[in-house]
Amino acid sequence: MKPSLYGLTFEQLVRWLEESGHKKSRALQVWDWLYRKRVTEFSAMEDVRPELRQLLEERHEIQTMAEHTRQESVDGTVKFLFRLRDGNLIETVLMRHKFGLSVCVTTQVGCNIGCSFCASGLLAKSRDLSAGEIVEQIMNVQLHLDRAGRGERVSHVVVMGIGEPFDNYSNLLDFLAVIKDAKGLAIGPRHITVSTSGLADKIKQFADDDPGVNLAISLHAPNDELRTRIMKINRAIPIGKLLQAIDYYLERTKRRITIEYILLRDINDRSEHALELAELIGSRRPLVNVNLIPYNPVDEHSQYQRSSKEAIDGFYDTLKKQGVSCSVRLEHGTDIDAACGQLRSKQIQASS
Ligand code: SAH
Ligand code: SF4
Repeated sequence: MKPSLYGLTFEQLVRWLEESGHKKSRALQVWDWLYRKRVTEFSAMEDVRPELRQLLEERHEIQTMAEHTRQESVDGTVKFLFRLRDGNLIETVLMRHKFGLSVCVTTQVGCNIGCSFCASGLLAKSRDLSAGEIVEQIMNVQLHLDRAGRGERVSHVVVMGIGEPFDNYSNLLDFLAVIKDAKGLAIGPRHITVSTSGLADKIKQFADDDPGVNLAISLHAPNDELRTRIMKINRAIPIGKLLQAIDYYLERTKRRITIEYILLRDINDRSEHALELAELIGSRRPLVNVNLIPYNPVDEHSQYQRSSKEAIDGFYDTLKKQGVSCSVRLEHGTDIDAACGQLRSKQIQASS
């Protein structure tokens, strides 16, 4: 199976072309066809020399996945299920906001972190996605928008689909380098957010590599006992270790972070939890924004329910009163399969 050309960063493409005896200026020409004119066949790259086209075609594909299902919500959210070459299914979501269009991408087939509330973690990871497969999800959404002919552009990206991005670290970094590149999709780094379940060592490495994007950390509980109950990863990486990595990141990058907190009814949504969370954040307050996430119920995890509106508002007010900056995540596509990973797990169940 040939990899997608979308997986090469500009520098990697330049190096490869030079090694194969082509001028490095050809890289710009190829990228223009890929990301500006957005052709999906090498044969359409009209002004690229035939011998270079042949070389590209020998080693690479452009498209390596096909649309399997597409669901459109009344609010404009579109969920795509793509079938990869090896038959695996992955999910990608387009969301419409006041500030632009964002795409939520998948980074792995399944997830090994296995959080107790999550649909993606129901299936163990079978493999990592390549950098090309992650970029291709955005390209496929952009091509879908191009076909609609309204001139819409993907302006924001969230790495919050199926999988733990920091468990696929080097492909994640290549993916970020491709989509940020001004010569290509030119998605501003401040418009990109990577979410992690809290792999402490990788958070530090991300601070060192610093691709300039936003980081969100799935905390979901204010103490170890509760966090271990809902996220088994907390046994290996408890909150203290996570906070050390967060402090390293804050110090090194001088950038704010987001703390994600799913509100689960009667489990982590009481005002005492909000107070405990505020205390945990402590003096980091100016550098932290808490994003409260109303839980999307998952059939297989019937022990969890969404918090009531009063509980969500109460949690928010308590944090605010404690001087913690916070927001409640707006929901998208609640009329189609809502939570990340749900569409995929339903398809797999239906076909098994
Ligand atoms: N693995 C990474 C990124 C993918 S999950 C992580 O866990 O951060 C992206 C976000 O969706 C995480 O904050 C995750 O906890 C949250 N999430 C998972 N299942 C959810 C559900 N059923 N309802 C609401 N949010 C959910
Ligand atoms: Fe994996 Fe994130 Fe789901 Fe946890 S919440 S199982 S880390 S995708």
